[in-house]
Amino acid sequence: MRNLDTLFAVLAKSTFRAGFQLNARDLAYLQEKGLAQVLTHAEDFVQKRLAPAVIENEGKQTPMRGHPVFVAQHATACCCRGCLQQWHAIPQGRELTLDEQAYVVVVLERWLQTYVK
Ligand SMILES: [Zn+2]
Repeated sequence: MRNLDTLFAVLAKSTFRAGFQLNARDLAYLQEKGLAQVLTHAEDFVQKRLAPAVIENEGKQTPMRGHPVFVAQHATACCCRGCLQQWHAIPQGRELTLDEQAYVVVVLERWLQTYVK
């Protein structure tokens, strides 16, 4: 797990990561549901798609579109266990702890927050 200010500074330097933005439909969804509810979806996605020690479709478990949280996951390198290891120093091959799951949701919250002033 990394310091969030450091993490976001590094993410901003990645053309690939910084290129992700919410489209009009995802933005409308976020504003309609509100950040708190969207973050409950994030908790669910993290628990089901990232937390298990073994993930069958590892590397492909996060769609590129269809929910604002998916976009946030790609933008913040919280899309798969490989990226969590590389960007967040969270090792693969074991279940995520509750602290690590909460950390991922906080990272996603920080990214999504910029859209809900
Ligand atoms: Zn990934």
